[in-house]
Amino acid sequence: MEKILEVEDLHVTFKTYGGEVKAVRGVTFDLNKGETLAIVGESGCGKSVTSQSIMRLIPSPPGKIASGAIRFKNKDLVNISEKEMRTVRGKDISMIFQDPMTALNPTLTVGKQLIEGIIQHDGSTKEKARKRALDMLNLVGIPDADMRMKNYPHEFSGGMRQRLMIAIALVCEPEILIADEPTTALDVTIQAQILDLFKEIQKKTDVSIILITHDLGVVAQVADRIAVMYAGKIVEEGTRREIFYQPQHPYTKGLLQSVPRLDLIGGELVPILGSPPDLFSPPIGCPFTARCDFAMEVCDKIIPREKKLSNTHKVDCWLQDERAQKLKMMVK
Ligand code: SF4
Ligand code: MG
Repeated sequence: MEKILEVEDLHVTFKTYGGEVKAVRGVTFDLNKGETLAIVGESGCGKSVTSQSIMRLIPSPPGKIASGAIRFKNKDLVNISEKEMRTVRGKDISMIFQDPMTALNPTLTVGKQLIEGIIQHDGSTKEKARKRALDMLNLVGIPDADMRMKNYPHEFSGGMRQRLMIAIALVCEPEILIADEPTTALDVTIQAQILDLFKEIQKKTDVSIILITHDLGVVAQVADRIAVMYAGKIVEEGTRREIFYQPQHPYTKGLLQSVPRLDLIGGELVPILGSPPDLFSPPIGCPFTARCDFAMEVCDKIIPREKKLSNTHKVDCWLQDERAQKLKMMVK
């Protein structure tokens, strides 16, 4: 498998009046060519900040990549110039957001937006760009593409707009597509169609996808691997099978119990009680201690170290560390 993106020990902070928020605290992961990695967690866990860091779109100030490395095919994205970074955005790595209207120009027809994007990207002739725009609209499943090119974005339905966004994001043939909550604003049927579309496009183009979501249900059908984030850290990472069928972190288990699953009809949905810790002064031990039913004495004193459970599965939890038992730490 070819690694195309490596994120290593990433720390991102935000200066606020109340002090410094440590939004991302040592995140490490790889992305392979042609795979979908889902980053899952509650709002505020640092998943969007992580993806914005990859695009170098953290508003700075107040935000800052405090330390760590982000490498796209060995190119150091943290330290290249803004000029170089502009060529990476869109061309190598592209991003789509929850609300397509924020990224679409309401005053230009759909055709014009696509065609101008293509011409800017590779200097195609107008005719060539038009042909490619049509191909893109067909690729993302917009019917009557020829006619729809003359429409304005507001004339599209929510689901069609999201397809359009995907077409725009893919028009420069990026190697990585980052989708931040791409289906959250859509109803369930359309959501499923958009997720299918991701899979289809990936098959055709071999694009790697980072899918950011708060909803584990969404990733069940599309993710190859899943990273679960909590309080600025990845607390568990594994293949889709490992996360869905052998989750080890109590937080992952909690997330799984809080989403409806077709294979668990009749199963009770249990919300995770409590709220995440304050990231002005994050806990020194496991950040999940205050909400964890299995917390031991050691948990809030010492941060659990990463335990490898397989080549693909790792977890940060004292329950997986034999030293916790040896120390005879008592269950609360
Ligand atoms: Fe719960 Fe302790 Fe594991 Fe944290 S380290 S998730 S508090 S058992
Ligand atoms: Mg977000």
